[in-house]
Amino acid sequence: VPTSNIRNFCIIAHIDHGKSTLADKLLQMTGTVQRREMKEQFLDNMDLERERGITIKLQAARMRFIYENKPYCLNLIDTPGHVDFSYEVSRSLAACEGALLVVDASQGVEAQTLANVYLALENNLEIIPVLNKIDLPGAEPSRVSQEIEEVVGLDCSNAIHCSAKEGIGISEILSAIVQRIPPPLDTAERPLRALIFDSYYDAYRGVIVYFRVIDGTIKKGDRIVFMASDKDYFADEIGVLSPSQLQADELYAGEVGYLSASIRSVADARVGDTITHYSRRAEQSLPGYKQATPMVFCGLFPVDADQFPELRDALEKLQLNDAALEFEAESSSAMGFGFRCGFLGLLHMEIVQERLEREYNLTLITTAPSVVYRVNCINGDTVECSNPSVLPEAGKRRSIEEPFVKIEMLTPKDYIGPLMELAQSRRGEFKEMKFITENRASITYILPLAEMVGDFFDQLKSRSKGYASMDYSFVGYNESDLIKLDILINGDIVDPLATIVHKEKAYTVGRALTQKLKELIPRQLFKVPIQASIGAKVIASEALSAMRKDVLAKCYGGDITRKKKLLKKQAEGKKRMKAIGKVDVPQEAFMAVLKLE
Ligand code: GDP
Ligand code: MG
Repeated sequence: VPTSNIRNFCIIAHIDHGKSTLADKLLQMTGTVQRREMKEQFLDNMDLERERGITIKLQAARMRFIYENKPYCLNLIDTPGHVDFSYEVSRSLAACEGALLVVDASQGVEAQTLANVYLALENNLEIIPVLNKIDLPGAEPSRVSQEIEEVVGLDCSNAIHCSAKEGIGISEILSAIVQRIPPPLDTAERPLRALIFDSYYDAYRGVIVYFRVIDGTIKKGDRIVFMASDKDYFADEIGVLSPSQLQADELYAGEVGYLSASIRSVADARVGDTITHYSRRAEQSLPGYKQATPMVFCGLFPVDADQFPELRDALEKLQLNDAALEFEAESSSAMGFGFRCGFLGLLHMEIVQERLEREYNLTLITTAPSVVYRVNCINGDTVECSNPSVLPEAGKRRSIEEPFVKIEMLTPKDYIGPLMELAQSRRGEFKEMKFITENRASITYILPLAEMVGDFFDQLKSRSKGYASMDYSFVGYNESDLIKLDILINGDIVDPLATIVHKEKAYTVGRALTQKLKELIPRQLFKVPIQASIGAKVIASEALSAMRKDVLAKCYGGDITRKKKLLKKQAEGKKRMKAIGKVDVPQEAFMAVLKLE
């Protein structure tokens, strides 16, 4: 089809507002996928995603649609639905001319919706408001329309009422895409510039790159260059996503497709990079490229020390497919050999952990996540530190800076109080509060990222009975009065339990942490002191009393099946234990610092 008959769009929505269901319906309605080949939700095709109901990796699909007897080609580019991946969202928006803004008509505008709408507006997208779930008895499309108008400043007079579930309003949406979203510019004569909006690693073909041609044309066999990494390749295969890969010979400005070129790691073809020709190089790469930087770090240690090489292998394999994942070997006196790993955020961290365990059969101990601190030393050096246990000694530091984020919480007015309390208790600095409607407010705070890592999101949900939502963005580094808190078990410092805390919180955290550890660590055959210290000074102390031997002895001599059962149970319980000195410490203990309240 001619460029004027192409439409590139994405769907932005808060989690659970119906993005995947709508995408599936659009694919069905246009005959792109037959009913029987549809898995439940075609666009979210990673198991983990399906289980958690979130979209992690982007996918794209080309649809054919006849409108007023003319054939159109509609390219849907899916976006991940979580703040950890907002850079990727921004790149897929940059690949489109328009967006469907899907809002659950029984709920309303949420923080994530807002964040993505702002990204779409920055990218000059035409936004089509879609009020979904109008089949629900509680749906209030006119109230929600008004809310979108007030909050986002978007004209909703022609918002589409839809039920993705029941298939209502789907053809109106397809027509609106053709009518309202502008076609791409026809710049096929210019030097090639294609925007990478996703890539993944395939064991047989190497990296598969998903891109939108912004200018020029790309042909099968072309010698291409990735401008940021400055690596060049031959495009062995190119094609379109229908949504399965369909080979093609040539793609023009405005089109969306994939290529493979025997690329060995996604790090060489990063999201946001520009593809150009080797011989007719574009003068300037496309704007907006950023290398994703990990914000959260933790230690990963195999429970069984023999699994260290397997863990290294698995991390290397995952990294082929995940340019944002960082790791380096780490050895800890308490934990043995493992890796210090860096992630975009907590969800990213959980996904990687879960894949390591599920797909690679590893049993891991994960230490509490830490942010990256900047330590200004007395000798004038500045060192980055993402591992509290190796923080330069107090005598060598002049000051410590930590990363701060701006968070925006959207909440029904009843929960304003509890949420402000939450933010305040996390060293939050109040910025502003706006009533976006009579009933709902937006509250903005600046707070340390370290205070958000952990259970902040869970707290926000529980304090608002699930009604509040939030979004955050990194604002910069600032000096804070921080100190290192060490934990000693049985007299030995356990380095993975060290944390960096604000001076004013040190005593409270020390007391709460020792108490929590006392609950979590099983009693041993001897008495075990658990202490918190700052430098050489012990600030809190607890003790696990000794377990009486006959508790175990009793089981012997009993009947054999019962004994076996007991031993099996013990073995399972052991799986997540790390022997530190003479004491077995369970996985939960390493996360205790996150759950102190
Ligand atoms: P996503 O997180 O935005 O991708 O949302 P999903 O498409 O996964 O939908 C979240 C939930 O809402 C699922 O249980 C869907 O079945 C349901 N859902 C989606 N669209 C509709 C709709 O139009 N009406 C109703 N009643 N439920 C819907
Ligand atoms: Mg989804």
